[in-house]
Amino acid sequence: MKIIVLVKEVPDTYGDRKLNLETGLADREASETVIDEIGERALELALKYADANPGTEVAVLSLAPEGATATIRKGLAMGAASATHVSDEALRGADLGLTAETLAAAVRRMGFDLVITGNVSTDGSGGMIPAMLAELLDVPHATGLSSVKISDGAVSGSRPVDSGVQTVSADLPAVISITEALPGPRFPNFKGIMAAKKKPLEVLTLADLGITADNPEAARSIMLTIAEKPPRAAGVKILDEGDAGEKLADFLIENRLA
Ligand SMILES: Cc1cc2nc3c(=O)[nH]c(=O)nc-3n(C[C@H](O)[C@H](O)[C@H](O)COP(=O)(O)OP(=O)(O)OC[C@H]3O[C@@H](n4cnc5c(N)ncnc54)[C@H](O)[C@@H]3O)c2cc1C
Repeated sequence: MKIIVLVKEVPDTYGDRKLNLETGLADREASETVIDEIGERALELALKYADANPGTEVAVLSLAPEGATATIRKGLAMGAASATHVSDEALRGADLGLTAETLAAAVRRMGFDLVITGNVSTDGSGGMIPAMLAELLDVPHATGLSSVKISDGAVSGSRPVDSGVQTVSADLPAVISITEALPGPRFPNFKGIMAAKKKPLEVLTLADLGITADNPEAARSIMLTIAEKPPRAAGVKILDEGDAGEKLADFLIENRLA
């Protein structure tokens, strides 16, 4: 069984995030970059299955700027056997369509039984890559799973919805996306960090994958304007002069929160 885990490099969730107001892209120099935590949880799920099922191969895949190698190596240090890093200047500012097309080509080239992704990244937050990937690979997609059971030829799991919990399953090959309800990642130990230096890390360009970024036949979205989030306005303070309950109720009604 070969499992590919999609990990995205993102600005550190705990640091300040900045947009470059000229390009509209995340200013990657402005903060530390890390593997998105949801990607680490996806990797943990794959590694746990591999621990219990010898013969399972876990590979990580990331589409990220050139400098992301150190971040991707963390996936190897955690226990993945190999990594593929797609990096090409023509991917700077890639929209969801181009990203999905590129990731699908890389997954096809790597070969897979199961692809595990996060349900949504903490920076781009499109939440569309997993579904687009499954469509391009022409395989089933089980979305937003909060529990997962992988078996020899199938994958199943549960997904909470407003009115209850759905149980879904799909035959392999398939793509699944997971939520933060899945267990957190293991810490890479010293042995893992040393071993990661010798594990294969393949770097691919768009040409390697036979993709043209400016393909005129492909629908691409372009950013028209970009603006920084407005500073947070001061909150409303209600002083209790015997009528605080009434004022609170009025505030909730006025702001359509009631
Ligand atoms: C040179 C270069 C520069 C880039 N600059 C930026 C940038 O400034 N800002 C930015 O947001 N993105 C950047 N990217 C990455 C890419 O364009 C985005 O990943 C893409 O738009 C996905 O959007 P999303 O985060 O909304 O995906 P979502 O659909 O929210 O992601 C869901 C899941 O899909 C998987 N996934 C998503 N993106 C990737 C990825 N890139 N690699 C591996 N798995 C992935 C993860 O498992 C993730 O949890 C850059 C890439 C390259 C090569």
